[in-house]
Amino acid sequence: MTAGRQARPFDFLVIGAGFSGAVISERLASIGQRVLLVEKRNHIGGNAYDYADASGIQVHRYGPHIFHTNSKEVYTYLSRFTRWRPYEHRVLTSVDGQLLPIPINLDTINKLYGTHYDRFELEAFLERVAEPRAECRTSEDVVVSKVGRELYRKFFQNYTRKQWGLDPSELDASVLARVPVRTNRDDRYFTDRYQVMPLHGYTRLFENMLDHPNIKIMLNTDLADIADLIPVREVVYTGPVDAWFDYRFGPLPYRSLRFEFETHEVERVQPAAVINYPNEYPWTRITEFKWLTGQHNRYTTTVKEYPEAQGDPYYPVPRPEANVLYRRYQELADATPGVHFVGRLATYRYYNMDQCIAQALSVFGRIAAGLGAPVDGVASAVALGVPS
Ligand code: FAD
Ligand code: UDP
Repeated sequence: MTAGRQARPFDFLVIGAGFSGAVISERLASIGQRVLLVEKRNHIGGNAYDYADASGIQVHRYGPHIFHTNSKEVYTYLSRFTRWRPYEHRVLTSVDGQLLPIPINLDTINKLYGTHYDRFELEAFLERVAEPRAECRTSEDVVVSKVGRELYRKFFQNYTRKQWGLDPSELDASVLARVPVRTNRDDRYFTDRYQVMPLHGYTRLFENMLDHPNIKIMLNTDLADIADLIPVREVVYTGPVDAWFDYRFGPLPYRSLRFEFETHEVERVQPAAVINYPNEYPWTRITEFKWLTGQHNRYTTTVKEYPEAQGDPYYPVPRPEANVLYRRYQELADATPGVHFVGRLATYRYYNMDQCIAQALSVFGRIAAGLGAPVDGVASAVALGVPS
């Protein structure tokens, strides 16, 4: 350090360089706050981290990340840091020896049963097989009330048991409500208004987002390594909420995955970006990255996802017992002054990327208001819940 020149201390310590931590850091830096961003992994990007593998294919280390949102604010904000590649995600699922479109649509049913239903005939069919429910409390209720038990068993029950180690009847309705049922021929996985991938990948997007003189990044550093060493005014924490409180009420359940990457010397290995395997094999799905990136290369790389009970915490588990336990941690979090809990792990929500970004912008809006700082249009629009 230059003699006589005292560095200004950090205003904020942000823990975790995934979307939640990166967005908060970028926004705080933009209003003149000095931010120390600490990440225990050896890279930024959190679970959205991507990189070029040995064959040059851009792969996602923690499983396929497809960007989709209905929020104009989130899309506009991210567009400051990346150009986009239009991309509509399509998924096939392996059922009864065929590869069929998922979410279930008109073609799924006609191929499965060899029928020629039109949309109205399919609606009548689904009405015949559906099991009406007064209230859809569980993920089983959500599906059987729409498509009946046979389709539930073929497409959802075993996939869910594999993915979560739980039967759909043990999971909140919200989990299987993520996958709609359609009576038209729309075979896209998502119907959001914005469906795009960052042109040069997520990691480049994060690099651009964090390239600011007010942000200092420390990789390979766990919160525990620096907690009492560096004075800061406020903290933003994006790791698992139970870890922050030393598991005082016991560990929250998180579901993990093991990823198995394979490179093949062939242009393409499968007929869609993702193939789901509900009923065979120990893995749930195989992703071929080239579909997501649009790359041309004589090699192609795939990743298989094997669900696991132990390992990095990837998914909060939406079910009543876990929600009750989380509420106890949330009360502690709410009563911890100077610490903001943000993101999928710290607020224990099965959030997509865009939801994490919206939440982070919203928290930033509150912090900035507390500091009396003027915020620009994007953050204030989200903070106020302005519809897109
Ligand atoms: P994370 O990305 O988990 O970042 C938290 C960071 O904090 C991590 O890097 C972690 O190392 C760090 N950290 C934790 N504790 C500490 C500590 N004590 N000290 C230092 N650092 C710490 N979303 C979509 O929108 N589309 C998709 O297609 C999609 N696919 C997904 C597929 C998989 C397999 C998974 C697991 C998730 C997927 N998601 C998808 C969800 C998406 O990953 C999350 O919404 C988003 O990345 C969460 O961002 P975050 O910053 O809250 O958490
Ligand atoms: N699911 C299923 N069969 C499928 C696809 C999804 O049973 O073919 C269930 C499964 O429980 C999964 C949930 O729906 O965890 C949500 O699916 P999504 O594709 O959104 O999962 P993610 O990409 O978040 O892992």
